[in-house]
Amino acid sequence: MPGRIGGKIEDQPQLSAVLLQFARTLVTDFSIQDILDRLVGHVVELIPVTGAGVLLLDTDADEHFVSASDKRILRIESLQLELQEGPCILGYKTGEAVMVPDLASEERFPHFSAGARKAGIGAIFSFPLRLEGERFGALDLYSTSPLQLSENDLDAAQVLADVAAVYLFNARARADARERNEQLHHESLHDPLTGLPNRSLLEDRFKHAAAKSQRSKLASAVLYVDLDHFKAVNDTFGHHTGDLLLVEVVKRLQALLRPGDTLARLAGDEFVILCEEVGHPREVDEIADRVVASVAAPFTIGANEIRIGASVGIASASGRQPSALESLRSSDAAMYLAKSEGGGRHRTADAKSRKVAKRRADIERDLEAAIHGDQLEVLYQPIVDAPTGRWEGVETLLRWNHPRAGAVRPELIVAAAERTGLSTTLGGWVLRRACRDMQRWRDSSPHPPAAFAVNVSARDVMDSDLCSLVMQCLEQSGLAPETLCIELTENALLEDLPSSLAALERLRQLGVRLALDDFGTGYSSLRYLKHFPVDMLKIDQSFITDVGDDIVDAAIVGAIVELAHTLELTVVAEGVEGPRQLERVRALNCDLVQGYFFSTPLSAEVIGARDFGARPGRFSRGRRGAAGSALLPVPQASPARAADPTTP
Ligand code: C2E
Ligand code: CA
Ligand code: CA
Repeated sequence: MPGRIGGKIEDQPQLSAVLLQFARTLVTDFSIQDILDRLVGHVVELIPVTGAGVLLLDTDADEHFVSASDKRILRIESLQLELQEGPCILGYKTGEAVMVPDLASEERFPHFSAGARKAGIGAIFSFPLRLEGERFGALDLYSTSPLQLSENDLDAAQVLADVAAVYLFNARARADARERNEQLHHESLHDPLTGLPNRSLLEDRFKHAAAKSQRSKLASAVLYVDLDHFKAVNDTFGHHTGDLLLVEVVKRLQALLRPGDTLARLAGDEFVILCEEVGHPREVDEIADRVVASVAAPFTIGANEIRIGASVGIASASGRQPSALESLRSSDAAMYLAKSEGGGRHRTADAKSRKVAKRRADIERDLEAAIHGDQLEVLYQPIVDAPTGRWEGVETLLRWNHPRAGAVRPELIVAAAERTGLSTTLGGWVLRRACRDMQRWRDSSPHPPAAFAVNVSARDVMDSDLCSLVMQCLEQSGLAPETLCIELTENALLEDLPSSLAALERLRQLGVRLALDDFGTGYSSLRYLKHFPVDMLKIDQSFITDVGDDIVDAAIVGAIVELAHTLELTVVAEGVEGPRQLERVRALNCDLVQGYFFSTPLSAEVIGARDFGARPGRFSRGRRGAAGSALLPVPQASPARAADPTTP
């Protein structure tokens, strides 16, 4: 019975010797081709045939493996492949051995038979290479004259084919695993969006660069590139556009690289260029200049023209052989300095950037302790009724006097909190403190502020806990929700419009009032305005600074006020510093003003001692409905006028 192992292998000492040898040579990691070559070699050694060949047909790739004992047989094997006809093909397809003892009387594969006979072949025996239902190909034995093989020879051939199939199976599994590993290895070292090396691969390149620069005595440099305004692009146009923009940025950066330089993506909009073998620091400065200029040129993404910029920090990556981490840290610090100087420029790591970076690290490290240890403070800046100059309410502004770093700007505190995951904790602290102070003023002062505002950071707006936190704080302090105004910036809202709208609705349902802060600085202010359920608009200081003299700014402010009033929103002009500005914002119908002209931010004690008058004004009432008057102080006979520089 062909194709089956008939007799016992022990009965064929020669076969078992060959199998042992086969096994011995194939214990290590042999390639598929090696296995086939050895199979053919062993077969002709063992069985009295003229030659042997083997074809592997079942490979996922288009690649076929073939091996033969001589050139003539190689041609015949290839002929089967070409014609897709012959005993080998049949054996592979059926999984059964195919016996052709006399090719002259064979009718199953006429085209192949003709060719094979022309090549002088008289008999062929094919044995499938198969394992557990899988088939790989077939082993062919050839004779120049017609031939009857003995049972033993047939068995031996099939045993060899079966054993080879096991080896092939293993070899293929190994090859697959290798391919998968290579793929995983590639993925573990590259950023999927841009295909650029990631941090791990970059660190590896750093090591090579260090070794190379030791040999060549030429320095390496690292450029830390951070995009300016990238977040605003994501906020305004969505993450898909942000991704497309990143890919375009990468194309531009790649065009600036010298051969051998590495461009890697560290995270989000942060890239690193490792420049090897730089002759003079000027060369790196020039590359940095080109990076800044090329990113500053406008991008066209879909229908949008987008302008961003780049801040670049440069540090040495060789010299006294700093580690990759140190180089990255120094260049990051220099980049941070470039960014804090306005962006769109490059800076080289030096004592100053190190100091800036150290300060930032100090702030991040000490923030949590500062929040829990009550080292933070808040000040309150009055919000004033524009027509009368009467003090109405206050805005809560965060302060931190760091023992070593000195006074830390609130924007830096908030940014540090976001980076260290303390945003909600910080927001909660400010809200609690402001509620407590407001409650104290109401307890102790005849005419306390009618309402108070608290800034909420971008990160916290979407946080579903914000609502319960607000509710809890109001409950604990016994304050009416209408006395609290939450100030949000519009960029925070645009990040995820549907969920931020839902969050705003929840807050409004509590009865809290909402203000859109820094209005006009966002990407697309007016477009979304009518969708936001806010009560108040705070026109950013940058429009107010020149409003007294600049007709364009005055026109913008006038238009914003008009639109806001159409939507029944109250308008606050921020940063009023002088009488000309005040005069103009009054003329333009701003409802409320805030600025140094009336007062800088003041301590809770000073606010508590101040008389805010008795009648509720715009800040506590708003235009959209007149909520929130219930808890305001009862009007007194003659409201005490605040000492106000604008009141005649
Ligand atoms: P903001 O909300 O726009 O606050 C107004 C800022 O303008 C305050 O700066 C205030 O001191 C300043 N300012 C007021 N009047 C004038 C003026 O006439 N001229 C000038 N040049 N400036 C004036 P501050 O206190 O440094 O706060 C800066 C920013 O930090 C705030 O801008 C706000 O965005 C943020 N911030 C402050 N406190 C907090 C807080 O508790 N939480 C959050 N998330 N952000 C806060
Ligand atoms: Ca504010
Ligand atoms: Ca503001």
